Amino acid sequence: MRVFAVAEIKFGELDPVSIELLNLANSIKGDGTAEAVVIGNGISKYAEELAKYADRVWKIEDSSLENYNPELYVDVLSQLFSKEKPDIVLVANSSRGSEFAPALATKLNAPVITDIVGLDTSNGIKATRYIFQGKLLVDILVKDGDTSVFTVRQGVFKEGSEVGGEVVDAGIKPSVTPKREFSQIIEPEVGEVDISQADIIVSVGRGIEDASNIELAEELADALGGVVAGSRPVIDSGWLPKDRQVGISGKTVKPKLYLALGISGAFQHIMGMKDSELIIAVNKDPEAPIFGVAQYGIVGDIFEIVPALVDKLREIKG
Ligand SMILES: Cc1cc2nc3c(=O)[nH]c(=O)nc-3n(C[C@H](O)[C@H](O)[C@H](O)COP(=O)(O)OP(=O)(O)OC[C@H]3O[C@@H](n4cnc5c(N)ncnc54)[C@H](O)[C@@H]3O)c2cc1C
Repeated sequence: MRVFAVAEIKFGELDPVSIELLNLANSIKGDGTAEAVVIGNGISKYAEELAKYADRVWKIEDSSLENYNPELYVDVLSQLFSKEKPDIVLVANSSRGSEFAPALATKLNAPVITDIVGLDTSNGIKATRYIFQGKLLVDILVKDGDTSVFTVRQGVFKEGSEVGGEVVDAGIKPSVTPKREFSQIIEPEVGEVDISQADIIVSVGRGIEDASNIELAEELADALGGVVAGSRPVIDSGWLPKDRQVGISGKTVKPKLYLALGISGAFQHIMGMKDSELIIAVNKDPEAPIFGVAQYGIVGDIFEIVPALVDKLREIKG
């Protein structure tokens, strides 16, 4: 099976989701190939990085591709795919991917399934995704066809190994004049964090009680060198921004350490953090479901335990 992953470059950096797409591609390619496509201008350094994880990297380079433009992406990708005929095309379920993937699929006359969290090719092509705002997890069988397009949820396919492939110039140039043109990049505000890439997450639930208590979690996160995230009620209450929400309607995270403070462990939350390397939960209810997924559990009051932990960490650090 030939599986192609469309890389994403943001703010002059290769977005880590590009490697996640290749991890998925490598896990499903069977005796086929995992191939990456990188689009832009002056993109050799990204292609070299991608080649560590791909059997082949296709470079599509042109000065008009310096900045992202959905019309040009659809144009150059459809030229490449009409020639190379991949079985599967993986695109990040990012704002860009969500914009161009359906248009690309239409151009290729291919099916598109968005925001997948699983893809199995052992017996046909079966994609897994949530429906009804995360209430149900469904498997979708894709009919045998030429090419299928999938957008993939970020943070789900973090594990993979290096492959070591080649970089080739696709020799493709844009063939259309886009109706839209690039105007400017608006950078995220300083201090904005991407919890899906964090190694240490201090996550707070309704047990934190009030916005003013978030500071407690921030102190612990600072002492540990981590970031603060939260369950949905915390985000719905406006105590943390939306991009800090963990769970099926938030982000999927896989940190080395996930510290759950005053989080009950509803399945909608668990689905977003269960694959963390180490989960430690603090909850005053010994029956809280979060203890079912935690390797270590502390039954107690976060307002006593967290300050004691912060003091201890500061003492250790001197
Ligand atoms: C369609 C849909 C999508 C959803 N998506 C998400 C999602 O993406 N992410 C998400 O998180 N939820 C999601 N939810 C909500 C989810 O069902 C739960 O309601 C939510 O996860 C509960 O959050 P919580 O654990 O913070 O609050 P609660 O369930 O109220 O739990 C609070 C916990 O804090 C403990 N506690 C209270 N005070 C203290 C204290 N002082 N010390 C120690 N422990 C204390 C309590 O014992 C309790 O276990 C979704 C729901 C629906 C219907």
